[in-house]
Amino acid sequence: MANLGRKMMIDGEVDDAEANYDFDLFVIGAGSGGVRAARFSAQFGAKKVGMCELPFHPISSEVIGGVGGTCVIRGCVPKKILVYGAAFGPDLEDARNFGWELSEKNDFNWKKLLQKKTDEIVRLNGIYKRMLANSNVKLYEGEGRIAGPNEVEVIQLDGTKITYSAKHILIATGSRAQRPPIPGQELGITSDEALSLEDLPRRAVILGAGYIAVEFASIWRGMGATVDLFFRRELPLRGFDDEMRAVVARNLEGRGINMHPCTTLTELVKTEDGIKVTTDHGEELIADVVLFATGRAPNSKRLNLEAVGIEVDRSGAIKVDEYSQTSVPSIYAIGDVTNRMNLTPVALMEGTCFAKTVFGGQQVKPDYEHIPYAVFSIPPLSVVGLSEEEAIEKANGEISVFTSSFNPMKNTISGRQEKTVMKLVVDSETDKVLGASMCGPDAPEIMQGIAVALKCGATKAQFDSTVGIHPSAAEEFVTMRSVTRRVSPSSKPKTNL
Ligand code: NDP
Repeated sequence: MANLGRKMMIDGEVDDAEANYDFDLFVIGAGSGGVRAARFSAQFGAKKVGMCELPFHPISSEVIGGVGGTCVIRGCVPKKILVYGAAFGPDLEDARNFGWELSEKNDFNWKKLLQKKTDEIVRLNGIYKRMLANSNVKLYEGEGRIAGPNEVEVIQLDGTKITYSAKHILIATGSRAQRPPIPGQELGITSDEALSLEDLPRRAVILGAGYIAVEFASIWRGMGATVDLFFRRELPLRGFDDEMRAVVARNLEGRGINMHPCTTLTELVKTEDGIKVTTDHGEELIADVVLFATGRAPNSKRLNLEAVGIEVDRSGAIKVDEYSQTSVPSIYAIGDVTNRMNLTPVALMEGTCFAKTVFGGQQVKPDYEHIPYAVFSIPPLSVVGLSEEEAIEKANGEISVFTSSFNPMKNTISGRQEKTVMKLVVDSETDKVLGASMCGPDAPEIMQGIAVALKCGATKAQFDSTVGIHPSAAEEFVTMRSVTRRVSPSSKPKTNL
């Protein structure tokens, strides 16, 4: 589609109107991706950069958002703060065998943590605004819509509409949590509200088994709530390595979360005692809070894309080429609204590539190989590269799988019964490490370094020749000497559980 258009725009074959554009670039959406793209474009030489974002609020709606976007205001950052908070619960239990004399009942003050969390996201919101101002990006508060191939209409809070012209437009409006279409769904909440609840639930029900479901199950359980996790597969975290999914399921159960595999919710009803939840097996349960963690949808409906014929897929995701250019050459899109790989660092990469390509004079495509990611359950899971199932599917020859399951040193004293599990998937012929996974304390911190090794094409022999850091869990990655199993491509991949 748009290659010719992109070339025209970056080769500087400008039309007469260029000098009259209000902006070289106008960005709709000031989340992680949009802010990165705006700042870097300014650094790469875009002289006039404008952007618009909805007014700030922790809970988003079609007319409320905030500079910083989902990650900063109602995603990664507040979630991680709550994970830190929740982890103290089990850590305090573990501390007893290390000699800490704690009271029988250690109180947890949810309101205090919530206030600290809100203070922090307000602080970050201010930092993001200052970064934009320091980069000479003009920020407008309001809802942005496409008014033409080179025009954005910004609708301000009071309803006033102002149209700006721009040589390039970038859409970075992210995504929003979805609720399943079941009776009583309005009684449930999404992750937005879950990060800002007035009170900590005593009884929490969660539907779904993706990142958000598993993370909130750990957060609320760590804070002492009874948590029931309902999901429609046999194991949580579809798409991850099956063996590691089983490890996560075992750990969640071991931490006291009630797991309900192959079960979904069919109805929510308000009662005097709470929300009555009914499952497709006819079970009933009363909860204080029901969280729908059933995925997110691209924020594209209100952008007026049809006015200029920007193509979207069935989910509403904006279709882009490998340079993030839409079917309209002057308009690009990055981040969750394109539904490629919905992670903050990926949106940052896409924003950087956009700025380099359009304003930096270098044609740079985002590279989706070897992107590490983590699920911040307690303990966390982190992976990079191929799962065993993907490796079997993609490889031409035999795969060697190395696994290590061990009692972390801390647990030998605390008495906690929870193994750390690590896994390497290796191409038997080339010895190249195709994938790595770990479920255990500090897994994301360790996996970032492993990702560098995989990106450099490290072989298993190079892992083995690396000296370990002792005593650490991480050293297991360089001491997995004997192969656990060899799998040939003709072996049937396991079914998706
Ligand atoms: P995910 O796509 O990860 O998981 C959605 C879950 O909901 C799946 O278990 C899915 O089941 C289930 N589901 C979907 N529809 C229904 C339904 N109608 N009834 C029952 N279950 C249903 O979405 P999340 O909401 O957890 O997270 C959204 C995105 O946010 C993620 O894709 C991720 O990109 C990002 N994120 C990243 C984090 C991180 O990096 N740590 C943290 C949080 C979010 P099934 O598998 O059967 O389809």
